[in-house]
Amino acid sequence: MSRAILTLNAGSSSIKFALYEMAAKGLRRRLSHGQIEGIGSAPHLVARDAAGAILSEHRWAADAKLDHEALLTPLLAWITAHLGEESLAAVGHRVVHGGEHWDRPVRLTPAVIADLAKLIPLAPLHQPHDLAAVEAVARLRPRLPQVACFDTAFHHGMAPTVSRLALPREFAAEGMRRYGFHGLSYEYLAGQLREQAPALAAGRVIAAHLGNGASLCAMHDGHSIDTTMGFTALDGLVMGTRCGNLDPGAVLYLLQEHGLSVSAVEHMLYNESGLLGVSGISNDMRTLLDSSDPHAYEAIDLFVFRIAREIGALTSSLGGLDGLVFSAGIGEHSAPIRAAVCARLAWLGVECDGDANTRHATVVSMPSSRVQVRVIPTDEEAMIATHTMNVLYPVTARSTQEESRVSSPVSRR
Ligand code: ADP
Repeated sequence: MSRAILTLNAGSSSIKFALYEMAAKGLRRRLSHGQIEGIGSAPHLVARDAAGAILSEHRWAADAKLDHEALLTPLLAWITAHLGEESLAAVGHRVVHGGEHWDRPVRLTPAVIADLAKLIPLAPLHQPHDLAAVEAVARLRPRLPQVACFDTAFHHGMAPTVSRLALPREFAAEGMRRYGFHGLSYEYLAGQLREQAPALAAGRVIAAHLGNGASLCAMHDGHSIDTTMGFTALDGLVMGTRCGNLDPGAVLYLLQEHGLSVSAVEHMLYNESGLLGVSGISNDMRTLLDSSDPHAYEAIDLFVFRIAREIGALTSSLGGLDGLVFSAGIGEHSAPIRAAVCARLAWLGVECDGDANTRHATVVSMPSSRVQVRVIPTDEEAMIATHTMNVLYPVTARSTQEESRVSSPVSRR
């Protein structure tokens, strides 16, 4: 068996993973994927094969207080048993924040890890979990190379005017600026678009990553020009449980008039707002689309309105619009949401093709549409694995650089 790369995406309640077989010229295929979910309540590990069949399962006692080392031990043991002792070549991590310095994937050393830990105040809900997974793997497999892939890196080239916050200058010096997130997804989508429609990819395109977290990215020739998330992943669109952009005066009001603590407001803005907060029903778009409750409709309507409004703003950043790409859970699977967003963009010359949209075709706009609308499934894990391989094996990677930059490096199923 040839060697493999493990990708880890560690969050507060789950660790998602995927395992890729390496070939001489890039990645050959995804061998397995899965997650450890229920962290903090009833942890449960499931590894599946390419067809979705369960390969391995592990359950811990409910309410077991487990650190990342305890959680990752059975995963690494299963991989060793599954692939053989020497087969795991490296681990690639999704790390949410690369700050101002880290503009590309990097091999993790103690010095790099220490530097990334300094960014915890910029992403207190994500960065500690990402780094805990890195440190756990370092303890469990000290000789295994590890690579960090940053969600912010793709947006690193945004112009100063786009990334500046209108606060007193001294705060910019400590890193208060707009960074943008979902960068691994956008990089993957840019590569896919370059492969599928090179002329369009060279133009002005807005990609819509619409999952539980949601954002837009304005790309020109595959480079990020502007994006809706900013200093934190709270900014921009209405999300499953996050509020998106909000008058900062509203935060002051909650603190002053309601006497809420800072952590209570933080919890509200990250976990109780967005689709869940407005509907009072669910953060899950499928549940809301199936509901006849008027509050579900209001939440969906606001979600769509804000996407269309931000597309207007990003079209200004791009100086026009040639293409629109829908991706992630809602963007890939919800024809009604795509149709509703497109209907609000008729002024831009967007014409949705109802039949193609219902069929989830690759192109869902009419031939006469001034803006071509496409649906592209995202794959952040494949992007992480590709970067990890390119960082660790640059000579091999060099011969396949173009391939890995522009294409889905592996077949997903
Ligand atoms: P995450 O950000 O957690 O990776 P996903 O990209 O998986 O999220 O997206 C989750 C969202 O996608 C949920 O709101 C879910 O309801 C929605 N979704 C998934 N399938 C469909 C569907 N067929 N129709 C509408 N929404 C869907």
